[in-house]
Amino acid sequence: MLVGTGVAVMAPAILRAQPRLASTPFTLGVASGYPRSDRVVLWTRLAPTPLEGGGMPDTPVDVAWELAEDERFARVAARGTFRATTAEAHSVHVEAGGLQPARPYWYRFHAAGHTSPVGRTQTAPADTAKPERLRLALASCQQYEQGWFSAFRHMAAEPLDLVVHVGDYIYEMSWGQRHVRKHGAANPTTLPEYRDRYALYKSDPDLQAAHAACPWVVTWDDHEVENDYTNDRSPMTSDRSFFLRRRAAAYRAWYEHMPVPPSMAPNGPNARIYDSWRFGDLVDLFLLDDRQYRAHHACTEGKGGRAMYTDCAERLDPKRTMLGAAQETWIRDELARSRGRWTLIAQQTLMAETNRAAASANEPSYWMDGWDGYPAARQRLLDAMAARRNANHVVLGGDVHMYAVADLRAGNGPVIASEFVGTSITSQGPSAERVRTLSARNPHLKYVRGDKRGYVLVDITPTACQAHFDVVNDVTDPKTGKSRLASFAVAAGKPGPVPA
Ligand code: FE
Ligand code: CA
Repeated sequence: MLVGTGVAVMAPAILRAQPRLASTPFTLGVASGYPRSDRVVLWTRLAPTPLEGGGMPDTPVDVAWELAEDERFARVAARGTFRATTAEAHSVHVEAGGLQPARPYWYRFHAAGHTSPVGRTQTAPADTAKPERLRLALASCQQYEQGWFSAFRHMAAEPLDLVVHVGDYIYEMSWGQRHVRKHGAANPTTLPEYRDRYALYKSDPDLQAAHAACPWVVTWDDHEVENDYTNDRSPMTSDRSFFLRRRAAAYRAWYEHMPVPPSMAPNGPNARIYDSWRFGDLVDLFLLDDRQYRAHHACTEGKGGRAMYTDCAERLDPKRTMLGAAQETWIRDELARSRGRWTLIAQQTLMAETNRAAASANEPSYWMDGWDGYPAARQRLLDAMAARRNANHVVLGGDVHMYAVADLRAGNGPVIASEFVGTSITSQGPSAERVRTLSARNPHLKYVRGDKRGYVLVDITPTACQAHFDVVNDVTDPKTGKSRLASFAVAAGKPGPVPA
């Protein structure tokens, strides 16, 4: 038996013959994700020197894992060995199966004479269960240089069932003012460079604590590859094959560092990461990928790439897609099949139409990189939501580095869904002046706040979905406290958020 006695941990026999490493390879922490009612994904990566390529010998290493019903590993529920290879940067993606629904488990890894920290995870309720509550945190946009990840330390202390991360997990570029720390490297374009960028971010202890506290589901936005890329097009180069090689490297490094199942390993520059989860009869969760398959930016052709707010007829073209044909069909069918009292549609960015014109401008202005650059596709998604009657649709987003609350309607019709957009973990938000203009020009946005960093705590019961905007007091202070900026609620059967 592989039992932690609290005194010493014995490595399984299979590992005793392996080379021992002088220092621990578990520098990037542990993580879990993709919880189902009978299984969960366990993740780690062996990297004794994480910021310099990892520092592993160029040989496969067997990593033993164990998952137990208790924190002291007295009752082990599942265990096995995973062969970590150089080709995957010695990352570990274990799908631990045969588990009980809706219960916590603890897990850890052993390799090369070392034992990892312990992570806590949790399975989803059975499809037939009637859960009384689901609590999740919504996170996005964590530029490493612009602040400490204290929001994650506070998140880790919450009793959460799930973290939903909607992108900008890393930033490929250095930007912003008042940096508290530095990337210390140029923008990555190759696989080793993206690996080092992920390792830098994942070496943060607060981020590690949030991963070790509960399972995550993750999608990406643009900065996991390059700012404002669309599908196969880069705003920085017209060399499509160079950009697709860069995208392939970025997608692979993303996979190597996320608690996602082995089936999600990218194939060159392609990776299917959109997915759905069921939490009994309470919640159907959908996680979308609005970067990989989208049409190129409208109205920017021949304007040198800095025309992101210039409107033109092309923007309204019904052929323009945000999700791509396959994903659009998938989400339409999934929404039609969904049975949950609530549906959560988690995706990258603000969905409500937003006039971004400056205070002095006469004409409305739309941002071509958001849903406003794809209004026909947004309409089709809202139609797919409206087609399911008696559902309570909640859209969750990020990307804009400000909190936003909105009713989502098709034209002047009834409210179809309620939207909550989280601010960033650290990334700097729009100026007070811009937020004032945005609020004045868009009265349908019920709340906009861009000056605070944090996350959204979403608390769902059969009768209500509450969203709490929890922020750190000072993102430049590694020991900062937190406070609650605002709360909104949606009552079941009555779409539209109201202050709570
Ligand atoms: Fe961002
Ligand atoms: Ca973004």
